[in-house]
Amino acid sequence: MNVDNALRTIELIRCAGKAATAYRAAQQTVREAYEEHNAAQAQLNHWNDHIRAMGGGDRASPAHAALLAAVREHQEAQQKIRKAEARLQRTSATLQAQRPALNRYPTERNRRRATTVLLDRLADHPVDLIRAADLIIIQTSAGKDSIVAMHRTVAAAKAAGCLHKVRVMHCDLGSEWPGVADLARRQAERYGIPFLLVTPDGGFLGMVENRQMWPDAKRRLCTSALKRDPTGPVITTWVGELGLHRQAIVLNVMGVRGAESASRALKARLALDTRTTSANRLVLTWNIIHELSEQEVWQEIASNGLEYHPIYDAGLERLSCVYCVLAGPDWLILATRVCFALELPHPETFALLERRIGHSFKQDFTLNAIIAAARMLDALDGPITWRRGDAVRRHLGPTAADQYLALTR
Ligand code: SF4
Repeated sequence: MNVDNALRTIELIRCAGKAATAYRAAQQTVREAYEEHNAAQAQLNHWNDHIRAMGGGDRASPAHAALLAAVREHQEAQQKIRKAEARLQRTSATLQAQRPALNRYPTERNRRRATTVLLDRLADHPVDLIRAADLIIIQTSAGKDSIVAMHRTVAAAKAAGCLHKVRVMHCDLGSEWPGVADLARRQAERYGIPFLLVTPDGGFLGMVENRQMWPDAKRRLCTSALKRDPTGPVITTWVGELGLHRQAIVLNVMGVRGAESASRALKARLALDTRTTSANRLVLTWNIIHELSEQEVWQEIASNGLEYHPIYDAGLERLSCVYCVLAGPDWLILATRVCFALELPHPETFALLERRIGHSFKQDFTLNAIIAAARMLDALDGPITWRRGDAVRRHLGPTAADQYLALTR
C-alpha cells in the first residue's frame, strides 16, 4: 500500500468536506440575511404607508420614530446581505478548487466511508505508517493499556528506524494514585524517548471546586477540559519545532481497547482527529491495541517485564484517579480500602469537598456512604493486603507471576 498516497487522499477528502460544509453554511447565512431583509422591508413599507395615511407632516410623532428605526434595521439588513454574499463567493471559490475531489466523493457519506476504508488499511501497516509520520505522540496514563500501547509503538518505531519521532505525554490531574507521574516518566525512559508532564491549572479537585459539581459520564469535563484540551497546544508546539514547510503527519497513540466498553468497541483502530487537524497538521488517533483482550494485555506485560503500578496488585483493574466519577460502588469501596491500607488522605479530602459543594459524587450515593461501607468491610475482614505480582497471578497464574517477578527483580 502506498501510505503517502493514502494520507494525501485522506487530507484531500477532508478539505473537500470542509469546503462543502462551509459553502452550505454560507448559503444558509445568505438565506437568513434575505429573510431578515424582507422583514425589515415590510416594516419600512408599513410605517411609510402609515405616515402617508396620516398626512405625513408630524416629524415628532411616534410613527416617525418607528419609521427611523425601521430605516436603520433595513440598512443593517442590507449590510448583512452584502457580507453574506461576499462569504458565499469566497466559499464558492474554495468549493470550485475542491471540485475534482467532490466529484469523486460527492456526499458526506461517500467521504466518510472512503476515509474509514483508507484509515483501516493504514492501520494494517504500522511500520509504514510510522515512516510516513513526522511526529508520534504517545498519550499515556501509565496504566496497563498505555504501557502495552507504548511498547508496541516503540517496537514498530524501531522496526521503521524512526524512534526519534516518538514522544510521550502524561497529564497529571493531581487526583491520581501516588507515583503515577513518576511511573509514566520511568516507562518513557525505559525506551529512551522524551517525556512531557502536563499539569492543567487547578487539576481535578480545582475544577470540581470551581464548578461546584462533580463531572459525570454525560459531562466528562475531567477528560475533555483537563486531558484532551491541553493536547492541542502541545501538538502545536511540537509541530512548530519540526520546522516543516508542509502539512505534518502526527500520530496520536492511545491505549484504548474495544473490549473495555460498548462505546470503545465502536472506535476505529485509526481515526482522523478532525478537532486537532488543520492546514499544518494531519492528526490521526491511533488506538494501537484496540483489538487486545485484558488477558492479552497482561500477557504482554508479563512476557516483556513491563513495570506496572502496584494498585493493580491490590485488585483494582484500572489506573484511574483515586476516585473516578465513572466507577461503580464496588470499585469505589475497594479504592477506599486501598487508601486506608496505604494511609492516603484521599477519602477525607474528597468527602470534605463533597460536603462543601453540596453535590453528591455520584447520583445514587455519596462518598460518605462509600467510606462507611469500606470501614465496615475492613472491620469485618481486616484491612486488605496484597503482594507484588498479584495482578499477573490473578490474570495469568502463579507461574507467570514468578517469571514476571524474576524478570523485573
Ligand atoms: S479517571 Fe475518571 S475521574 Fe479521573 S479524569 Fe478519568 S474519567 Fe475523570
